[in-house]
Amino acid sequence: MKHYFILATCLLSMGMVSAQNFTRQDTLRGSITPEREWWDLNYYHLNVKVDPAEKFISGHNIVRYKVLESAKVLQIDLQEPMQISTITQDGKKLKFTSEENAHFIQLKKKQVPGEFNELKIEYSGHPREAVRAPWDGGFSWKQDANGHPFVATSCQGLGASVWWPNKDHMYDEVDSMRISVTVPKDLMDVSNGKLEKVDEVGNQKTYHWFVANPINNYGVNVNIGNYVHFGEKYEGENGTLDVDYYVLPENLEKAKIQFAQAPMMLRAFEHWFGPYPFYEDGFKLVEVPYLGMEHQSSVTYGNQYGNGYLGRDLSGTGWGLKFDFIIIHEAGHEWFANNITYKDIADMWVHEGFTAYSENLYLDYHFGKKASAAYVVGTRANIQNDRPIIGPYGVNRGGSGDMYYKGANILHTLRQLLEDDEQWRQVLRGLNKDFYHQTVTTGQIEDYISKKTGKDLSAFFNQYLRTTMIPKLEYQLEDGTIKYRYVDVVEDFDMPVRVFVDGNEKWLFPSSEWKTEAMDITELKFDKNFYIETQKV
Ligand SMILES: [Zn+2]
Repeated sequence: MKHYFILATCLLSMGMVSAQNFTRQDTLRGSITPEREWWDLNYYHLNVKVDPAEKFISGHNIVRYKVLESAKVLQIDLQEPMQISTITQDGKKLKFTSEENAHFIQLKKKQVPGEFNELKIEYSGHPREAVRAPWDGGFSWKQDANGHPFVATSCQGLGASVWWPNKDHMYDEVDSMRISVTVPKDLMDVSNGKLEKVDEVGNQKTYHWFVANPINNYGVNVNIGNYVHFGEKYEGENGTLDVDYYVLPENLEKAKIQFAQAPMMLRAFEHWFGPYPFYEDGFKLVEVPYLGMEHQSSVTYGNQYGNGYLGRDLSGTGWGLKFDFIIIHEAGHEWFANNITYKDIADMWVHEGFTAYSENLYLDYHFGKKASAAYVVGTRANIQNDRPIIGPYGVNRGGSGDMYYKGANILHTLRQLLEDDEQWRQVLRGLNKDFYHQTVTTGQIEDYISKKTGKDLSAFFNQYLRTTMIPKLEYQLEDGTIKYRYVDVVEDFDMPVRVFVDGNEKWLFPSSEWKTEAMDITELKFDKNFYIETQKV
């Protein structure tokens, strides 16, 4: 999801409330319930007709799953006011009971472990309208400047079950998916993956899209407009990648200039993170009537064809105006969010921390290491340290909005600790290779980085991810000695820091105990690349 200036509003929109307010619905939505646990998603065919004039959708989803353990009740999610009309298995109608947005289907057929079964769920309704897409999402029913319908979905956090029936928990990604969208024939639908075919019946067209790779629920999207198309072939690490762009006709010329940053993005991120993770599905930028979102293989774009974040530089250094924030940030999520996906939104920093960090790696690749460091250090001004980055588990709640720029600065600090950019690059590439197309916990990511760097980073991650404290280095200079220690740190926090003593690089190894070293110091400077505070006492 995209960074939002007023972080508090962002958090509100994500429904982040204090722990005591969790409801039965939060648990049904946010935990791996017994009615979810026994089956493994294999395939969806979502077939939906969208009527922009009536703001109405109708259709069905076919859910194919593998039985892991025998069971009789299966949970499917679809949020009010959408309504399920019929559920069938092998042509037989099934009964279901509903608890608001969770629907418990009573299966008739014996569910044999190892076998694949299908459900067909027919549904319809006026889906929730996005209040402020993409943060407060749903359907955006807009019109373009020429009066054509311009419609798009966004639903991170809120959940894909806001507009289609599915297993709405992130831990289980469907392995492949077909998305068939019927629209008035003067419009086009652009969804995820590749366009297989277009059927025309009467005054309607159906666009059939196929996603060959695992996809997270909130990544699935429909975008409907009077689109024009252009595209190119990108020669990347895994061969030839189809890169396609869908924009409104009036923006075609602007798009041809601005979207030149897409191959630049691919060049930078394939270098740092490894091959684009979805070659079979291609990469698309799709214009939408809101700011943008990381929809897998169909990244949506609404940044008004200018650099920065709606023209602003989030770092305050000038470097943020060297790139189009939405192209770079949302596409960065193809690696961190779409390739490596959180199991629980409590670990959303795995998406946003790494992707906010990707902004400066884009600068690093194209503008150099100094530019990248200035940018990421500059973004510290956005950090609130209001709440920990990691949120509560099992109730569909994220942590602090600091997951973006504090997350980025944590990773930037780690890069300093390694003192070996190539090793760091291999860690980032290794994450994308070893967790390829997987859902993960933060624990797996932390352990992986510790293992690959040969450093025990448990106190480091506990400090920065699980508390709001910024390590403070207290120091005294007297009589040819420096005395120093950390305060505001968790147990065993002992991160080394780089300093410059009269211009010469030197490392200090502080802990929460005072240490004294003999050192003649006229001028002492701390390396700003480390995310700490310092205080002479
Ligand atoms: Zn994001």
